[in-house]
Amino acid sequence: MSPTPISASISASSPPVPAPAVALDEVTRTYRSRAGSVHALRGVTHAFAPGTFTAIMGPSGSGKSTLLQLAAGLDAPTKGRVSITGTDLGRLNQTALTKFRRTAMAFVFQSYNLLDALSAFDNVALPARLAGRPVERHSVLDALERVGLRDLARRRPPELSGGQQQRVAIARALYGRPDVLFADEPTGALDRTTGREVLALLRTAADDHGQTTVMVTHDPLAASYADETLFLADGQMVGRLRHADATAIARRMSELEQR
Ligand code: ADP
Ligand code: MG
Repeated sequence: MSPTPISASISASSPPVPAPAVALDEVTRTYRSRAGSVHALRGVTHAFAPGTFTAIMGPSGSGKSTLLQLAAGLDAPTKGRVSITGTDLGRLNQTALTKFRRTAMAFVFQSYNLLDALSAFDNVALPARLAGRPVERHSVLDALERVGLRDLARRRPPELSGGQQQRVAIARALYGRPDVLFADEPTGALDRTTGREVLALLRTAADDHGQTTVMVTHDPLAASYADETLFLADGQMVGRLRHADATAIARRMSELEQR
């Protein structure tokens, strides 16, 4: 048995401080091209607490997609640091990062990103299969049950409505029990009623399963499902609203768009 490290015995006597699920520390991203430099993000700092649901809003070009890409380790900051559940992504090599991303996080996109040739069941199981993890039939069906699609497990995406396809994508994201769920305009292609179903599922992921959810949206009603909405403008965080309703969020957005 190895001796207990001193740091472990110290932290055992003081209350544990959970690492943020996602931490952005002075994150800057500059795109350089022959045409010049674009400062997509300028020193953004924010900690997303475990089990919270956060919306990101801002005018077109304000840096929302860039922020999501960096937070998910799909792109690296020009300056600053991104950590997920205490792991500094900048310290992982490409192989370790890919492996880490597969277990720690999942994505839901506006365009669903399902494979049309596979059944709903196989779409949900695919990431686990790609990661070389065993796939248990009952737990795939449980994930489909959570989104109300257990009975349609054998259908392929072209045989499902848009809302049903997005729910398959959410089941796929939830199946691996990732700590963090990133969603980029998840309701952008859905009608209002179906959009609400999808948002309620994201709410449940945070509330009942402790999954930290970060969602980019243009829709104040969608943002009102979140615990907090962060506002970006010109690559900087310019405001935040907690537990706000759609009207208050829409008002803040129109102020930003008039800047
Ligand atoms: P949003 O998602 O809020 O619309 P983005 O994060 O996509 O904003 O973009 C922020 C800024 O960075 C914009 O000015 C955009 O044109 C620029 N940008 C985004 N991606 C690239 C890229 N790959 N190369 C150059 N500029 C980019
Ligand atoms: Mg975008």
